[in-house]
Amino acid sequence: MIETITSPAAMSARAAAFARAGTRVGFVPTMGALHDGHLDLVRTARAENDVAVVSIFVNPQFGPNEDFTRYPRDLDGDLTKLAPAGCSLVFTTDAASMYPRGFSTYVTNDAWSDRFEGAVRPGHFRGVLTVVAKLFHLVRPTTAYFGQKDAQQALLIRRMVADLDFPLQVRVRPTVREPDGLARSSRNVFLSATGRERGVSLSRGLRAAAARFASGERDANALIAAARAELEATPGVSVDYVALVHADTLEDVAHADARSLMLVAARVDGVRLLDNALLSAPTEAAW
Ligand code: AMP
Repeated sequence: MIETITSPAAMSARAAAFARAGTRVGFVPTMGALHDGHLDLVRTARAENDVAVVSIFVNPQFGPNEDFTRYPRDLDGDLTKLAPAGCSLVFTTDAASMYPRGFSTYVTNDAWSDRFEGAVRPGHFRGVLTVVAKLFHLVRPTTAYFGQKDAQQALLIRRMVADLDFPLQVRVRPTVREPDGLARSSRNVFLSATGRERGVSLSRGLRAAAARFASGERDANALIAAARAELEATPGVSVDYVALVHADTLEDVAHADARSLMLVAARVDGVRLLDNALLSAPTEAAW
């Protein structure tokens, strides 16, 4: 049976007990509606620590036109999947407990928050960093696990941990995909059968760019064009951005090298999908 904790104070007390016992805690923060991408993080967290703790919390950081109320929620299904993956403790709470009246302190990043996902979703990363900082204090992980699928988020969290001296390690795992290449995402449930097929254009675009890189192309514009061509040839796909950046700085690069990360975001039949890959090693994590 998985233990479920629903109050921040109880979570904090449990974390203090783990600390006293010297228990190594692997922590996977999620918004629920769990799939194989999350479960890979959980299995890794369990393998590398004494316990795996998962949080399930849909943070109200979503902007006014976003899908906070529509976001898929399935706590019973999630708990059923988590036990076999090695998770023994789930922390799931509500916005009123995390943000009681008077809450007014936030974590922001001045360098990386206003590009890509931050440009499309203003305030998004302030919400992410603030909730992850709170979760780190409540759960006190030895190591926290994130997916490369959300590459900008993973980098921002690494930066926060370094800048604010959180006493924990951050591990990033490669993106888990469907057999046809579509990155697993809780939002994939919103795709119709046609949308599902169209969504594969993101990973096809990344693969096309990686193939050009492998055959010697280094010009960023040519590599971006190769990915864009796949997306733009697919009906129902509207590109938010395709960019080639340095994996460690998220700065645009003109000439690709082994550390160049291609970021893709698009709306597919109205559902927002993200993907990214290192052009030199598309199936590996960048960090
Ligand atoms: P979410 O529930 O979407 O907030 O995701 C929780 C964690 O799972 C984040 O660190 C994500 O980057 C990670 N994640 C989501 N999808 C995938 C995937 N397809 N492969 C690996 N990790 C993922």
